Amino acid sequence: MTEEQPDLADLRQGLDEVDTGIVRLIAQRRELIAAIAQVKEQGTAAIQDADRERRVLDGVVAVAADLGVSASLVRTIFRELISDSVSQQARRLNGDGGGRARVAFQGAAHAYSHAAAQKYLAGRGLLGDLTGFRTFREAVAALLAGDADLAVLPIENTTAGSINEVYALLREHELFIVGEETWKVDHCLAAAQDVPLSSLTQILSHPQGLEQCAQFLQSLPNAVPTTYFDTAGAMQAVAAGGDASVGAIASPEAAAAYGLVVLRHDISDSPDNYTRFVVLSTTPAATDVRIPCKTSLILATRHEEGALLRCLEVLSGSGHSMTKLESRPRPGRPWEYLFFLDFEGNAADPRTAAALDELRSAALYIKVLGSYPAKALRPEARPGGLPGPQEAGSPAETLEAVAAVEAPAARRSRHYKLVDRAARPADTVIRVGDVLVGGDGFVVMAGPCSVESAEQIASCARFVRDQGAHVLRGGVFKPRTSPYAFQGLGWEGLELLVAAGREAGLPVVTEVMAVDQVQRMAQAADILQVGARNMQNFDLLRELGKVDRPVLLKRGLSSTIEEWLAAAEYVVAQGNQQVILCERGIRTFESATRNTLDLSAVAVVRERSHLPVIVDPSHGTGQRSYVAPMAWAARAAGAHGLLIEVHPDPDRALSDADQSLSFDQFAALMGRLAAIPAPASPAAAAAR
Ligand code: PEP
Ligand code: MN
Repeated sequence: MTEEQPDLADLRQGLDEVDTGIVRLIAQRRELIAAIAQVKEQGTAAIQDADRERRVLDGVVAVAADLGVSASLVRTIFRELISDSVSQQARRLNGDGGGRARVAFQGAAHAYSHAAAQKYLAGRGLLGDLTGFRTFREAVAALLAGDADLAVLPIENTTAGSINEVYALLREHELFIVGEETWKVDHCLAAAQDVPLSSLTQILSHPQGLEQCAQFLQSLPNAVPTTYFDTAGAMQAVAAGGDASVGAIASPEAAAAYGLVVLRHDISDSPDNYTRFVVLSTTPAATDVRIPCKTSLILATRHEEGALLRCLEVLSGSGHSMTKLESRPRPGRPWEYLFFLDFEGNAADPRTAAALDELRSAALYIKVLGSYPAKALRPEARPGGLPGPQEAGSPAETLEAVAAVEAPAARRSRHYKLVDRAARPADTVIRVGDVLVGGDGFVVMAGPCSVESAEQIASCARFVRDQGAHVLRGGVFKPRTSPYAFQGLGWEGLELLVAAGREAGLPVVTEVMAVDQVQRMAQAADILQVGARNMQNFDLLRELGKVDRPVLLKRGLSSTIEEWLAAAEYVVAQGNQQVILCERGIRTFESATRNTLDLSAVAVVRERSHLPVIVDPSHGTGQRSYVAPMAWAARAAGAHGLLIEVHPDPDRALSDADQSLSFDQFAALMGRLAAIPAPASPAAAAAR
């Protein structure tokens, strides 16, 4: 009998009640925001406070972790809530709301532009009459003719890049940017019937949609990608045509609206696929200076050496950070360029107005397109830090005095020049996800030696994240001494690692063993590790120098520090400056440990090079009980971080069982780490 089993209708009713409760709580949150806005209205402070936002996110992620809710889900929801509260406060300061606007966009109903326009209007408290046009040009024509008050057009996509035609329209017409909006693009493939992917012969979408799914399309054996004026329009056409061998790429909402069957979700080449839209008007708009703003302009430089640099110096010298620089051909002037530039600032702010004046005299031509509330701000990165208070009464000063690294001596090596401290006195700081490696931060990378299963890597990810680690490690291609030992799960393991990292909100590091793995690995992993055995695989190093991904370069088993830095030079000389060095122990006559961890290398490297250097006490000692003391010592010696092997059941680990920490041991290691003082950095010492 199924008597005890809860009834589906009851369960659904329970769910409906929870959902209503969620909406009520959102309404309550908004009331509090309104009260806060009222308080802020009296002051002159900016309404967006990055530190406070980060604390809110960290706080809710911690609660989520306790309740077993995914960090990425909670982050996504709260980013939207925070962005809504910023718009709510901005609206109040700007006195917006309550009006009606006629908005032109490109595409059919349910196109991404349509969704972005609705989101923008909602954020400003406006009602809208939205009209879709076949082309960007027609949408702008409607705006210029007075048939629309605003036009919402895509200007760039985080996968496919800038939309040149919209830049051309901004140059050709008297248009102003009065706002921006972002939209996370989740492409799906849909067709009139549920057919196997192999039976599709043609796939329609906007050229941008096809470009953003290029890799997925290449994996379809028989389908020819065909451009269509719009993503949603393509769905409409497939629905109208009724031919089951034709598919279309657009949003799942568009598929549902036109009655199509989704054959595959999430087909963008990059899971983080966002489009930024600009909101255009024929008149400029003023924005309250307390609202975080961006200013956009078009600029032509003087015909002088270093002309662009001088213009950029005006902005950086006045404390304005540039968020985008795009160069477009200058019509009728072969090999001359117009620059489209966005920076954080508001022309209504006297400091920004002064910078614009200075820019006018530095440039040959400048047209300010507008200052408007910023939506697409790059999330701020923070230096890696350790949780918990510094232990009271720790001998910080004494230790610091002993371990403080001397200012770099002016010496140069024959083997390298770019990685030499003499070439760059300041520390190189490398961004990984939203954490910074190098400088004064301290970054912990932790996880199993090898990825073994989805459960194993996911539980490691959650655990090390909760203990304060910043990056998830996990080998998928394993350089094993014996060909009969476990060789790693390969590409399948990489997918598991990336999924676990994403779920826990951690970037991932994994080893790349061969030249032909580099490109593919660079698309998925956040840091590419070169193992000790490959430190002098020069072809591999050169290939890594060509990708825009941080490289973690382990010291070779029998390599000198000079050879190690020369290996880093191979990567840097190809153009990729993002090298993190990792001391992991060297071969000596000592056999009580697997390797001899050379902590003096940290002090030497920090003196000789500006690159960050971290320590791997797991491979450095090869034995669990020695890992924590060496980790603490590495921090005191001035390392920029640690790479540590952790396993849910270390004795059963498929590789490096002896040196893998249990969860409890890792927690104990992390617990004491924050109490260990880091020495003053050589860069800071040199500046004193
Ligand atoms: C590893 O980190 O998993 C590894 C194989 O390290 P190493 O190259 O230092 O031996
Ligand atoms: Mn290992």
